[in-house]
Amino acid sequence: MYDYLIVGSGLFGSTFAYEAHKRGKKCLVIDKRDHQGGNVYCEDVEGVNVHKYGAHIFHTNNKEIWEYVNQFVEFNRYTNSPIANYQGEIYNMPFNMNTFNKLWGVVTPDEAAAKIEEQKQTAGIDKPKNLEEQAISLVGSDIYEKLIKGYTEKQWGRSCTDLPAFIIKRLPVRFTYDNNYFNDRYQGIPIGGYNKIIEKMLGNTEVQLNTDFFANREELIKKADKVVFTGMIDQYFNYEHGVLEYRSLDFEHEIHDLPNYQGNAVVNYTDRETPYTRMIEHKHFEFGKQDKTVVTKEYPKEWQHGDEPYYPVNDERNNDLYKKYKGLADQQENVIFGGRLGTYKYYDMHQVIGAALQTVKKELDS
Ligand code: FAD
Ligand code: UDP
Repeated sequence: MYDYLIVGSGLFGSTFAYEAHKRGKKCLVIDKRDHQGGNVYCEDVEGVNVHKYGAHIFHTNNKEIWEYVNQFVEFNRYTNSPIANYQGEIYNMPFNMNTFNKLWGVVTPDEAAAKIEEQKQTAGIDKPKNLEEQAISLVGSDIYEKLIKGYTEKQWGRSCTDLPAFIIKRLPVRFTYDNNYFNDRYQGIPIGGYNKIIEKMLGNTEVQLNTDFFANREELIKKADKVVFTGMIDQYFNYEHGVLEYRSLDFEHEIHDLPNYQGNAVVNYTDRETPYTRMIEHKHFEFGKQDKTVVTKEYPKEWQHGDEPYYPVNDERNNDLYKKYKGLADQQENVIFGGRLGTYKYYDMHQVIGAALQTVKKELDS
């Protein structure tokens, strides 16, 4: 018998398991995949740590979370500075003075701000109601057309007018010549890869891989007093209110027999025609000196049964549906829902760890 059956060995499940073990609780972690770590899992290919489920850059403003992850592994000084490739034209991301200068030839912040204001006025946007209006009011219509519209419509499979504004607010807009993609105080990549964190978190906990909760639900539940569930919340309730929408991805990994393929860790392809959104060159996350290099293209697609659900689609329809599932979840006395899929939230890693620590506190310290 276990105190907790933890469904999912991603960052939420692993943080919960580590903290519960520290408090003397016995946990069993199961995962349907053949490895632990969820989406932060890395694989060694040609000596390069390959982020198997897309680029993962750790960033946070929260000192406690930063110190928390640093107890497991040391982080390097990587700063994410993606570039955008729009039909062969290269722009710096996020939107900053380098971007504005290349696009418009403006040199001072005042000139850039005036250009954006002019385009915002022309578009006649007062209170942005959707992603398109939000984007134009933040950076103007030229940047929207070249760097946002195509990328966003590929990524989400929906028109920018049907998407919530908050998605584009993830990206900084800066009137300085600073290409750092994040505003957070702390940022880096774990030296040796993310698996090191997960191995330490789960070092004292029993983990069963290749085990799908839904293949054997009744038996598994009997093994523990409580369940921590980090899979899809709608699946947990047999989709009884309907199916939540997710975006999925196909990853295409390639090995190239040369030391440097694209000159940057992340290159975004922002036109509508290129079928992938980003190309990642993994070695640059760790300043790698290997002879070969590994790159990954990300092809977004609509999630269908059997695909991995990578992103919740937090539009109004889905958020309303999620509320219904949340209502059901709140009635479950012995089940705790957590993580990106269990709470249907577009969480970054630091937020997932923060949420897991809060959950443990509420569950075991009060
Ligand atoms: P997951 O990592 O998804 O773990 C859930 C686990 O549950 C999985 O291992 C899954 O196999 C398992 N599971 C699900 N259902 C079942 C079942 N029925 N039975 C058994 N096991 C099950 N965050 C950042 O901070 N920085 C980034 O740069 C960043 N980049 C990202 C890029 C991509 C492409 C994606 C998709 C996400 C990115 N994130 C990033 C977000 C980050 O991956 C998540 O915040 C975090 O990994 C979520 O952890 P989790 O434990 O909630 O979920
Ligand atoms: N985005 C964009 N152009 C880019 C990069 C991002 O329009 O070159 C938009 C897009 O809508 C994306 C959102 O900004 O979904 C958030 O980007 P982020 O890099 O945070 O996405 P994630 O890493 O979570 O996929």
